Amino acid sequence: MTPRYPAPTDAAGPSAIPHRVAIGDLPPRMQDYLKSAASLFLAKGRATVTDIAADRGVKVPTASEAVAQLARRGLVEHENYGAVELTESGWQVANELLDRHELFVHLFSDILGLPTEQATQEACAVEHAVAGETLEKVAEFVRRHVHRLPAAGAGVGRAEKVAVTGGRGAAAEGEAESGSAKDAEALQRNGGVVLIDEERIFAVLREATSRDAAYVRKVIAKALQLKGLDEEEVAALAQISDSELLGELFAAARQVKEQIYGDRLVLFAPLYISNLCGNECLYCAFRARNKAIRRRALTQDEIRQEVELLIDQGHKRVLLVAGEAYPREGFPYVLKSIETVYSVRRPQGRIRRVNVNIAPLSVDEFKELKAVGIGTYQIFQETYHRPTYTRMHVAGKKRDYDYRITAPDRAMQAGVDDVGIGVLFGLFDWRFEILALLQHIRHLEETYGVGPHTISVPRLEPAVGSDLASHPPYPVSDVDFRKIVAILRLAVPYTGIIMSTRETPNIRRETFALGVSQISAGSRTNPGGYAEDEEFDAAQFQLGDHRSLDEVIRDVAQLGYTPSFCTACYRVGRTGQDFMELAKPGDIKHMCGPNALSTFMEYLLDFATPETREVGEARVAAELAQMSPAERKVAERLIEKVRAGDRDVYV
Ligand code: SF4
Repeated sequence: MTPRYPAPTDAAGPSAIPHRVAIGDLPPRMQDYLKSAASLFLAKGRATVTDIAADRGVKVPTASEAVAQLARRGLVEHENYGAVELTESGWQVANELLDRHELFVHLFSDILGLPTEQATQEACAVEHAVAGETLEKVAEFVRRHVHRLPAAGAGVGRAEKVAVTGGRGAAAEGEAESGSAKDAEALQRNGGVVLIDEERIFAVLREATSRDAAYVRKVIAKALQLKGLDEEEVAALAQISDSELLGELFAAARQVKEQIYGDRLVLFAPLYISNLCGNECLYCAFRARNKAIRRRALTQDEIRQEVELLIDQGHKRVLLVAGEAYPREGFPYVLKSIETVYSVRRPQGRIRRVNVNIAPLSVDEFKELKAVGIGTYQIFQETYHRPTYTRMHVAGKKRDYDYRITAPDRAMQAGVDDVGIGVLFGLFDWRFEILALLQHIRHLEETYGVGPHTISVPRLEPAVGSDLASHPPYPVSDVDFRKIVAILRLAVPYTGIIMSTRETPNIRRETFALGVSQISAGSRTNPGGYAEDEEFDAAQFQLGDHRSLDEVIRDVAQLGYTPSFCTACYRVGRTGQDFMELAKPGDIKHMCGPNALSTFMEYLLDFATPETREVGEARVAAELAQMSPAERKVAERLIEKVRAGDRDVYV
């Protein structure tokens, strides 16, 4: 199986990996103790000798002696009465053991059809005995059957792309392979497989280096027809370094942005409800072993308080965010939190749309999420480059690349048809990432008839307790960052692009023109941050834009954009494919323009400071003046209603 721990040669990983302990050097009994310590840590964020004893079904002194033996081998660290901490070497071995265990559980359960409990017992019994070539062969067999992949050696390419069952669209190549009911069940649970064809991406990027200016100009001309771009064309744009061509690229992006989105910028605020996490992502402050931050999951009362503050600032849509572990009650905590957000009422309104950014879910869990009325489900692959992904995600469920990349599939299968995807730029070469992003988008379009609703483009920012976040392995310069936004705008013109407050006001301003359609404002990334203010030692990353919502709105309006708090489409069911059917012929614009103005006017009347109101009124007048007569009539009617005291009016 693929190694799960940063390789010693990797500049991004820990600088020195201690002496490598091979699994075979460890007696099976000690393997089990190490596995227990790792599993307990991943489940609870902490493993004690007492927990390990209970897990192994032995007395505490027995477990204590085993832990001491593991410590002598450099696999764990343990001080009297403290938690048992796995060392880097310990995680290296534990990850392999957990992978091996999962492999046999898949074999016995998904392929041979044993009940889960029995499959787990059998896996424990045989996993120590199988090694070397036999283990590789079992791994290959399981991989092929669970994910319905062709045999090894057949090469990786488009022909191997496997469709997801349950989708609306095309049956795939590979679909012809007959699958047992168990296969179908496994696919249903995993959401299928999205293959990112890395070899092809590198080949396309290599080829792009020989493209001349005439080819690039042809690509830009095609993009201006709003038809989107393919991988070769995107790769050619990614290679631009000539300043004249760069200017043409940016001009084209501005034109497409203007044509499809006009001057509107949709605003939202993130709502962090918890920073508990069971994963070890080397770039994130929330990672489980980071002791430098204070852990916290908000109670429902605290969430209510945060939401009241957001409503009082003027927000109408929030993005609910949680680390990838929940308090004792588990996933229902998230559902309850969403209900709490929707339940809060203030004299000047309420939150009208809750989008969520949480760990990947099963199809059934996504159905529950849909039932509580979420808007968009957002999930970032972080990096599409599998070896980098493996190195960055050291422990926890997030190590499973495939389960994460198929989360949008499962969301769509469950009826959540607005999904948002994204990349954390700085982990790997950005050119690779945008081509992979494009492959992911095409997979969703081909399978479900609609691609993602939004793409997010976060760049790595410093985070407490993460060296890597301050020293990105593939730093993205400001020029390249602008290129990323411009290229995405041209490649997928109808997909929203989200810019967070990670970026400074200047970068945000520049990228609004190039294609960004949604921005966060007045954000806090620490749970409780709106009530208690920004606290870096509980936050996920450092913010680049600390301005209040009012300041951002004034700035945006002065720049000639219309801030929008519109949530109409989601409220009337214009989502997924229905939304795209309106967006592509340009029909959606006639609704967005008036709705943006009516929600902006609500803000100006209910929340704005006098200076912002003055700037805002001028912006509304300018926007009305440039509308078509029909559109202006609708907008004026809505604005009149808002001025008369009506709220939440839209078309
Ligand atoms: S990126 Fe997400 S999963 Fe990883 S440590 Fe941070 S909160 Fe947890």
